Amino acid sequence: MEISKILIANRGEIAVRIIRTARRMGIATVAVFHESDSESLHVELADEAFSLGDGTLADTYLNIPKLINIAGISRCDAIHPGYGFLSENHIFAQTCQDAGLVFIGPSPDSILLMGNKLQARDYAMESGLPLVPAHTIEEGKDIPELAENEFPFLIKAAAGGGGKGMRIVYNSSEMREAIASTRREAKNYFGDPTVFIEKYIEDPRHIEVQVLGDKYGNVIHLFERECSIQRRYQKIIEESPSATLTPDKRWKICESAVRFVKTINYYNAGTIEFLMDKHQNFYFLEMNTRIQVEHPVTEMVTGIDIVEEQINIASGKALRFKQEDIHQNGHAIECRIYAEDPANNFLPSPGFIHYYSMPKAKNIRVDNYINEKAEISGFFDPMISKLIVRSKNRKDAIEHSIAALQDVVIHGIKTNTEYLKGILQHQDFQNNNISTTFCRDETNKINSEIETEKKNLNKSEYIIAALLYRLNQPFRKDSANIWQQISYWRHFMQIPVRCEEITCKIKVENSGKGKYIFTKNDQKHECQINDIAENMIDFSVDNERFRTSVSIDDKQHIMVRMHGFDFEVKCDDILGDESVIGDSGQGSERHDNDLVSPMPGKVIDVRVKPGDKVTKGEIVAIIESMKMENNIIAPFDSSVEDVYVEKGSSVGGAQLLVRLKI
Ligand code: ADP
Repeated sequence: MEISKILIANRGEIAVRIIRTARRMGIATVAVFHESDSESLHVELADEAFSLGDGTLADTYLNIPKLINIAGISRCDAIHPGYGFLSENHIFAQTCQDAGLVFIGPSPDSILLMGNKLQARDYAMESGLPLVPAHTIEEGKDIPELAENEFPFLIKAAAGGGGKGMRIVYNSSEMREAIASTRREAKNYFGDPTVFIEKYIEDPRHIEVQVLGDKYGNVIHLFERECSIQRRYQKIIEESPSATLTPDKRWKICESAVRFVKTINYYNAGTIEFLMDKHQNFYFLEMNTRIQVEHPVTEMVTGIDIVEEQINIASGKALRFKQEDIHQNGHAIECRIYAEDPANNFLPSPGFIHYYSMPKAKNIRVDNYINEKAEISGFFDPMISKLIVRSKNRKDAIEHSIAALQDVVIHGIKTNTEYLKGILQHQDFQNNNISTTFCRDETNKINSEIETEKKNLNKSEYIIAALLYRLNQPFRKDSANIWQQISYWRHFMQIPVRCEEITCKIKVENSGKGKYIFTKNDQKHECQINDIAENMIDFSVDNERFRTSVSIDDKQHIMVRMHGFDFEVKCDDILGDESVIGDSGQGSERHDNDLVSPMPGKVIDVRVKPGDKVTKGEIVAIIESMKMENNIIAPFDSSVEDVYVEKGSSVGGAQLLVRLKI
């Protein structure tokens, strides 16, 4: 059946990415959106867009009747689920079929079969794939006896995905609590509290095989991806090919993936995930029955558009390629850019991006869903965009990725770009001496190297860039050029400036024609603007030339990005409003004994009441934000003076939760 119009039951970069391929194929698209996504690129790019309201996820992106109804109203003949959300929901796939819509994915049976990790394991065992040893745990029954020397184990949600619902346990005393919280998370996120225990493989690599199967039993693979760079079991850097595999190993792992897919009569794109131990033994982990976040690296090296193949397969076409047509050309690396703070335990960092700019070049692909300014809501996954770079070999791809990351400008929130760059620059990464524990083991080192590098940068260059830019903003719509704003010309002005550890006064002399003399502590610098445009300034300081990205937020704070690092410059001059001088007020009157929410979210548990004694490290409350549970921990031994929230309350960033007393 020819597909002529697709409803995309998703949001974010994957919705945009599907629209692009559909458009190229001459297929119309219909977007759906949560009200907080109304400015998103997928809404703008689709031929039509329908609001899902501003309710919960269950009422919007996960609301099957609503989606089917919109597909009917807009006369779509197919639905693409993207990844996440309903992509691995067999009821959704079945409901689409029952409504006469083509589900661009596998059969409901395949989803059901592979959606449960325990069932998938049984199937893999029957097909002769090697498996990690595991134990099932039935609810209400005793935990199996495990010898202390068999630890560590991983507790996993049978219906889990996206790195959620997994906990490592190092000894039997931690088991009960870990099972309980994994169950709670599993029930919460996946609607199924079934969990199981799997032997934890030490320092493994994550290697997965991309497959394509049609409805006629033809299956091919598009080779492998290595996704060993993960934080919290979630991939953040992926590459193809894997530098770890010998040609022989590559053939074996890809061939066994194809064999497995054939035995389960699978059609659509799919991914067979494996763990590989230090001795290059591989073990089946799970199968994902949808497009993966990291699919672009495979597309970059094989030249195959996986979404296009998904659409062809769903419409009943036979695979257009034979295995011998597929080759790996060059090396591709994907970096996932997240709204999070790696220096603060990867805490999600939702907020308003007031300036966003991504690098452009022939070998760079950017998959994203925002154009310029955007609110990153704490309601959804914190991934903002994906930066994919292809080059002739791994070394080159790493170098180009580092350079590309330097050119990513995201101002207004914290992101992981410096951290990603830190990984790519790490000797062990460059030598492919990595495993899935790389981030766990190296994050402190990477963060402290970033800190040192930032400390050693010459902040004067950032301050000068900020001042030159602020003093000349010809493109501001309100033409609020500072010289005009102060309404009288001052030949000399002293501007108090703050940037990181530096607080100083800069004397500014405007010599005309874009030339300035800045004097700091009796040291004179001759500065010149070579070129200036919105969010960019090219300037010289004492004949050394710089080019920077600059933005100004609504509090008149200036963000400057140079040498791949961002600094905020605050000018406490006569034009500064209160918020420039004060520290945005947030938490300024806080007592040290106050525990505040680190970000906006929902209180999913409060474990203390006034009068309780708490010990250092004890969990006091749990806040859920961006689909993650964040434990709020007592910083010292104390007693609880007051509790300001209750289970189920919504909280803002820095909102007072609990007051302690020593
Ligand atoms: P999800 O479905 O949530 O993505 P997976 O089962 O695919 O979960 O595992 C995700 C990651 O968790 C793996 O890439 C690996 O880093 C880690 N992991 C999973 N199982 C094991 C295991 N048995 N031993 C060690 N690490 C594991």
